[in-house]
Amino acid sequence: MKAQTRDMFTPLDSDTYDPATVAAQADGWRSPTTGEFPPPISVGVTYARDTNYNTLAGRAYMRDQGSTGHEQAEAVITRLERGQDATLFSSGMAAASAVFASLPSGSRVVVAERLYFGVTLWLREFGRLRGLEVVEVDASNTTAIRAAVEASTTALLWIETPANPTWLITDITACAEIARDAGALLAVDNTVPTPFHTLPLTLGAHIVMHSGTKYLNGHGDVVAGFLVRGSSEDRSNVSLDSLWEMIQRHRRLSGAVLGPFETYLLTRGMRTLAPRMRQISATAQTVAEHFERHPLIRNVSYPGLESDPGHAIAAKQMSGGYSGMLSLYVDGSLERSLAAANACRLFLRATSLGGPDSLIEHRYTFEGPGSMAPPDMLRISIGLEEPADLIADLEQALDFAATV
Ligand SMILES: *Cc1c(COP(=O)(O)O)cnc(C)c1O
Repeated sequence: MKAQTRDMFTPLDSDTYDPATVAAQADGWRSPTTGEFPPPISVGVTYARDTNYNTLAGRAYMRDQGSTGHEQAEAVITRLERGQDATLFSSGMAAASAVFASLPSGSRVVVAERLYFGVTLWLREFGRLRGLEVVEVDASNTTAIRAAVEASTTALLWIETPANPTWLITDITACAEIARDAGALLAVDNTVPTPFHTLPLTLGAHIVMHSGTKYLNGHGDVVAGFLVRGSSEDRSNVSLDSLWEMIQRHRRLSGAVLGPFETYLLTRGMRTLAPRMRQISATAQTVAEHFERHPLIRNVSYPGLESDPGHAIAAKQMSGGYSGMLSLYVDGSLERSLAAANACRLFLRATSLGGPDSLIEHRYTFEGPGSMAPPDMLRISIGLEEPADLIADLEQALDFAATV
């Protein structure tokens, strides 16, 4: 019997290998001319044509077709999310807004009332300019979601779970059913759980959105975003095929194209997604359990805690852990929670999430007017440090806060 050899120049077979394996080898791409891997960063903005005015590989201009590096990043996230296709954007907001900008004018959009604040702001300001009817709903309540979606013809249901900054859980399978019944499309912001913990497309979602800035790149040094599409739905009010086509046109014509060096870093980051998420989520679970019964903490929001209101649904739709985001509520007091954040030595006082450095944020102060964050909430992004060091830092910060 002839040994089955692998052609070193073809992508890895994702039916044979776990997506984490495919990601570790960045989909198995090599330079087709030298075999070098990772393949070189392609930086050319434009492409030479032959005397018949044809290009060699169908690319004409980077803003229009992207580079081979874009294609590799898109191939990796498509495999990770078990999607059909993906498009890389210059930020998570560029990706999210491309969906809303590509819907037919007058479309009705139902969104979770607790969302990444930038998405909420975009919809409130530009959704109106676009002529979208935007309805905000409590997305931890399935009955409320169904009522909102069925109240009138709905084009899109947009959810995020666990949702910033309270980590409320939305039932993706229930939302997919509600969307299907009403002919709506379901889009899920999968930035926080990442495909390592949650696969919305396998639960019936049509589009997954990512801020690649966070866990996917994972090193806090790139701003990027993705949209990934699942299978088409025959009976939807807006066709997924035509929406996806408009999204591609939107990226070209709005110009939200990521630079080739950042694209390279993003692909490099995605190679280590699985081991990073494994460690980050285990640390977050340890920290959440440690502070759950702390005298100065009135509550901990973390879907990995059995006491968390979203735990049962989270356990159903997440696997391998609950990601690295949690919120601590400091004994009802704005002053004490700010004092605790200020007393941290290891946790950095900064926004964002998903990098190697653990971050702490007084979300109420950061979001400003219109914030729905409780004034005593500290939002925490767990990084790659040792759990005992992180716990000791929070302990000493809370000891200090108790004195103010
Ligand atoms: C950061 C973030 C975004 C926005 O992404 P950018 O890359 O900053 O534009 C959207 N959704 C979630 C959940 C995020 O954390």
